[in-house]
Amino acid sequence: MPGKKKEKQENSNKNAWLKYTKEGTEKVFQYCEGYKKFLSECKTERECAEEIIRMAKASGYKDLYSVKKAKAGDKLYVNNMGKAVALFHVGSEPLEKGMKILGAHIDSPRLDLKQNPLYEDTELAMLETHYYGGVKKYQWVAIPLAIHGVAAKKDGTLVNVVIGEDDNDPVIGISDLLIHLSADQMEKKASKVIEGEDLNVLCGSIPLDKEEKEAVKANVARLLKEKYDFEEDDFFSAEFEVVPAGKARDYGLDRSMIMGYGHDDRICAYTSASALFELTETDRTAVCILVDKEEIGSVGATGMHSKFFENAVAELLDRMGDYSELKVRRAMSNSHMLSSDVSAAFDPNFPSVMEKKNTAYFGKGIVFNKYTGSRGKGGSNDANPEFLAKLRAIMEKHSVSYQSAELGKVDQGGGGTIAYIMANYNMQVVDCGVALHNMHAPWEVASKVDVYETKNGYAAFLKEI
Ligand code: MN
Ligand code: MN
Repeated sequence: MPGKKKEKQENSNKNAWLKYTKEGTEKVFQYCEGYKKFLSECKTERECAEEIIRMAKASGYKDLYSVKKAKAGDKLYVNNMGKAVALFHVGSEPLEKGMKILGAHIDSPRLDLKQNPLYEDTELAMLETHYYGGVKKYQWVAIPLAIHGVAAKKDGTLVNVVIGEDDNDPVIGISDLLIHLSADQMEKKASKVIEGEDLNVLCGSIPLDKEEKEAVKANVARLLKEKYDFEEDDFFSAEFEVVPAGKARDYGLDRSMIMGYGHDDRICAYTSASALFELTETDRTAVCILVDKEEIGSVGATGMHSKFFENAVAELLDRMGDYSELKVRRAMSNSHMLSSDVSAAFDPNFPSVMEKKNTAYFGKGIVFNKYTGSRGKGGSNDANPEFLAKLRAIMEKHSVSYQSAELGKVDQGGGGTIAYIMANYNMQVVDCGVALHNMHAPWEVASKVDVYETKNGYAAFLKEI
């Protein structure tokens, strides 16, 4: 590969930055500019799905449901309710030989507006929220927030709303208690400092002239009506997500890292999709699945537990004139998958929760987690060593920096991913991805070289497995 110092087999202990010449480092930074733009503009699962489909179309992908026939070399996408996407690059081998699958999720922790959110208290207009996913609630106060989402109106139209991202937009936010009056609050446990029902967003304070009752709330309602033709009732059928306002930024004096909202798991989604787009030809069908609802258990029609992907595979076999129930089952069980999600990078500020020999580090490349889970690997997909051996060989053949890690010390906590769900089809699946600092905080941090190595790791997997 151009720009690399030498073709030496990298082991996971080397800092990946050291592999690159000036020219190679420039490529790392360039690739991350694209990722930063994606992360800045796509802050909901819908926005991610839309952008991935736009990118797919630009790479020649067509809607699977719009084509009558499919053959080797075709590139097809499936849009599941605007919140999950599957991309297929059809291979020369029959689908029943299995697929090479990259999977990740595109939902991120946030605060969702309730269905009846708007109210007035002491002449301030407020919005009720219900947090989504695992959040430290105290991190979401006293920071600028934006609203992204859609309202579905009774006539069938969809109103898209983004407020708080343009430099000229206002932001909204949740107040914290002043330190001067926090004597009681400061004695509370961190989980009680800010409670879920107190995550109320302040969104207005000017009363509407001549309105007698709840005039401030009425004024906010008037603004929504004027700008979006949105009635207060329309909150009933809306999905509005309150997220940190602002763009992803270079982080560190050397610009080696990225701070942004929603690295978990858009960092794996973007790298997986772009690795697939780089693929020119393939023997077995190459796939990228990007799903919703991982942060709340992969439930619902747009989560990984949904039959959506299995249905899409059946439809693809049908378009290839090769459908049978048995072939669907074989296609699934003969597959190999990198189920990608973020890992915890070692943090010098919090060394006590990590076991240093089995933790991920910034700058050491793509992270493989043989298992995740908690309390004795509970809930984990424990990948087979035979599969891991193949992956090691592939990473080394393509000079990709990789590392092995688990999420923290034994019995310190843990987490789940979508791997176990796909493993139910009896396919070979392993968890892997990019390591972060501040996971699930409003602003998460990742290393640029890890983003690039991970994309290269996915590309190598698609070529070789
Ligand atoms: Mn997560
Ligand atoms: Mn995740």
